[in-house]
Formats: sequence, structure tokens, C-alpha cells
Amino acid sequence: SLSEKLQNVFKNLRGKGRLSEADVKAALKEVKMALLEADVNFKVVKQFVKSVEERAIGQDVMNGLNPGQMVIKIVNEEMVSLMGSETVEIAFRPGKELTVIMMVGLQGAGKTTTTAKLAGKFKSKGKKTLLAACDIYRPAAIEQLKINGEKQGVPVFEMGDKVRPSEIAKAAMEEAKRTECNVLIIDTAGRLHIDEEMMAELIEIKEACSVFQTILVVDAMTGQDAVNVSSTFDDKIGIDGVILTKLDGDTRGGAALSIRAVTGKPILYAGMGEKLSDLEQFYPDRMASRILGMGDVLSLIEKAQENIDEEKARQLEQKMRKNEFDFEMYLDSMSQMKKMGGLSSIMGMMPGMMGGMGGMAKGKMPDIDTDAAEKQMARTEAIIYSMTPKERQNPNLLNPSRKIRIAKGAGVDIADVNRLIKQFEQMKKMMKQMGGFGKKGKRGLFKG
Ligand code: GDP
Ligand code: MG
Repeated sequence: SLSEKLQNVFKNLRGKGRLSEADVKAALKEVKMALLEADVNFKVVKQFVKSVEERAIGQDVMNGLNPGQMVIKIVNEEMVSLMGSETVEIAFRPGKELTVIMMVGLQGAGKTTTTAKLAGKFKSKGKKTLLAACDIYRPAAIEQLKINGEKQGVPVFEMGDKVRPSEIAKAAMEEAKRTECNVLIIDTAGRLHIDEEMMAELIEIKEACSVFQTILVVDAMTGQDAVNVSSTFDDKIGIDGVILTKLDGDTRGGAALSIRAVTGKPILYAGMGEKLSDLEQFYPDRMASRILGMGDVLSLIEKAQENIDEEKARQLEQKMRKNEFDFEMYLDSMSQMKKMGGLSSIMGMMPGMMGGMGGMAKGKMPDIDTDAAEKQMARTEAIIYSMTPKERQNPNLLNPSRKIRIAKGAGVDIADVNRLIKQFEQMKKMMKQMGGFGKKGKRGLFKG
């Protein structure tokens, strides 16, 4: 397996303090072979190996890791970034406007099943959903969608198999609007291979009912084919994201690694089984560790990373105790929060911490709009990054003209900059009041 091969390669790297060019090159040659065997697109492999090489050569080996593990760390990080790093959500039209989603893909990829799976997800998010049966070719396709829709408690719109799919889609859109639905998901027909007729039909549907999101469903077991299918669909009809099905099989996930890199389109969800609940949000980091198949090594790396974070957290505490809290530390603390797994858990631990963020902390924990919170965090980061190091260390420097410059740099309003500064002052005050934290025996503020 890829995992075993990598382990073998990295065995030879043990006992060296810094990664030499020869070591890295030899190791990456094997990595390259192994990735190709896992059915990763060759262009992706080439680019991937190059970027890992650039990063790895001359790198110091982190405390607590051997050089082999250090290379794995870099390989892992590059894999995550190849898959887009962040989890991407399906986009919706703003407010109460109807969002039309069209599901496309080859026959048997899992469109109909995934349509029903998604309907369940949307329903649990409080979105009123209608499904449209536009596969008029496959025998019993309409019935299949109806049965699955019923299981999910979501209505299915159909007009039998004698009406043009684009007409059905259009009528479904009217019905969705009439019944004040938030989402319409259109299940379409696939074929065994990509052909002009199928593409023409999909384009016709897309145009007939102003599709907002076109989601391609691909079978992960088909490996590189899945990648080719993705780029063809994207070229011909334009896709907004991909759902990778059948990842519950023993597929290595080569497709997952390449799709984003080849098409630039995110993987939104992963199908993990035939049951309608078997649909999971796609996490690039989890996928990377699956491809590497090195759970043990990866958790070791995490641990080494934690030690570094712990050291950082300790420094942070010391500074705070001396009331030297500045924007550099604010940034640090934000990145620590992210690592600790989501905002809601952090806010549970630190009441009042997020006091300034649009009143988010006022509601009960389950009601927190984490989407908005993450966006807010990104904006905050952008503002701090737009400050000069001097400004970060000495926020007193922030006069109006500097604020204007920072707002421009971060692409936000001055009001946002002012809000952040105010929030920062509040936080600083709070830190002071909490003076006693970090006492012996207690873990620091930024470590659970
Ligand atoms: P369509 O032709 O694209 O509409 O594909 P279907 O939704 O009819 O699915 C084809 C087959 O794949 C069905 O037997 C599904 O149960 C199965 N299937 C779909 N998604 C998954 C998945 O994530 N895992 C597994 N194991 N089977 C799946
Ligand atoms: Mg189908």
C-alpha cells in the first residue's frame, strides 16, 4: 500500500537533523510512484512532488519528529492544501430567494441517492426543499426519487416520462416558488459515457430554470476517470462543486486529491454509504490522512505541533500577565482557537471572549451562526494583517489616517477597524481582570 511504501522510504531518512536534497529527492521519487499507483492524476503528482521538494529541502526537523516523519508532515500539509484546505459549503441565494441546484453526472454515480441525502441535510437546516424528477430515461428513476424523497419527508415533483426534462424543471421551479420553497434540487439523467445529447439536455435545463449551483456527482472508485469526467463536465456545462460518492469502499482517494487541483472546483460532500444518512461534509485534512494511511504518524506529528503551540500559549500567558497584550497576540490567539476546533466550543469555554462580535455570544450556544462567525474571524485577520508590525505591537499608534489605510488594505469599512480596536481594548481589560489565570496546575487560557 501507499502507506507501507512511504513508511519504507522514510525509514531511510531516520537519524538526520536536517533534510538534505538527496534524501528528499530519493523519498519523493517513491512518493511519486505511490501516488500514481493510488490513481492520482500525473500532472497533479508532478506539481505536488515539486512543491513538497521545494519546501522540504533544508528544513529543520521539528523536535519530537524524525526526518522521515518531517517529510510526511510536509507531504500531508501539501495534500491538504491541494484539496483546498477548507471545507466548502454549498452556496445559496440570499434571503428567501429560491436556490435551484442541478445534480449532474454519469449513470450510477449516485445522483438520485445524493439528491435525497442532500434534501435531508437541507431539511435539518430548516430549508424547505422540493425535489424534481428529471431523469425520464432510466426505468423506475422517478419512482426511486419518490421513495427516497418520502423517506426524507421531502416532496418530489414529477410529470412522468413523456415531458421534456427542461419543461419538468421549469414547472418544478414554478411549483417551488408557489409553495415558498427555499431550495429546488433537480435530479437529472446520466449516461454510461459523456455524450453530446446528455450535455445538451443539461444545458437546456440549466437555462430553463436559472440554476444557481450545478453539482457534479462522481464515483470515487473510478479514480482518474472521475477527474476526467469532472473537467469535461466543467468545460461543457460549468460546475460549482463536486460530491464524491462511494468513499466507503476501499478506494484510496486519488480522485479526491486531484479534482480540486485539476478543475479548481471544491469537493463539497463525500458519500459514505447507501443509506440516506451516509453523506458527510468533505474535510481535506481527514482525506489527506486517509490517503496517507498513516494515522499513527499523523497523530504523532499533531502532538509535536501541540508542544509548539503549548510553548506559544505559555509565552502568550506570560505576556498577558504583564499586560503586554497586543495585536500579534490577538492573531496568535485566533489561530490557536481555530486549531482547537471551532468557535462554538471555544466560546463555551470563554464566556465573553467574543463579546464584540455582532452579539454572537448573546445567544445560546447551539444558535450561533458559525458561518458568520468564521467570516467575521477572517475579516478580523485581514484587518490585523493590514497593520504594520509596529502598529500591531503598539495599537496606540492607530490614528485616523492609519485606520483609513488599514481599512483599505483589508477591504473593510473604517467602522470595522474601529470595532476591532474597541473589541481588542475590551479583551485587554478582561485579561487584566482575569489576572490570576495560568496559575500552577491550571492549563492556560488558550489550551483546553
Ligand atoms: P444515479 O444513476 O447517478 O442516479 O445513481 P444512484 O443514485 O441510482 O446510485 C447508484 C448506486 O450507487 C445505488 O445502488 C446507490 O445505492 C449506490 N450509491 C450511491 N452513493 C453511494 C455511496 O456513497 N456509497 C455506496 N456504497 N453506494 C452508493
Ligand atoms: Mg438517478
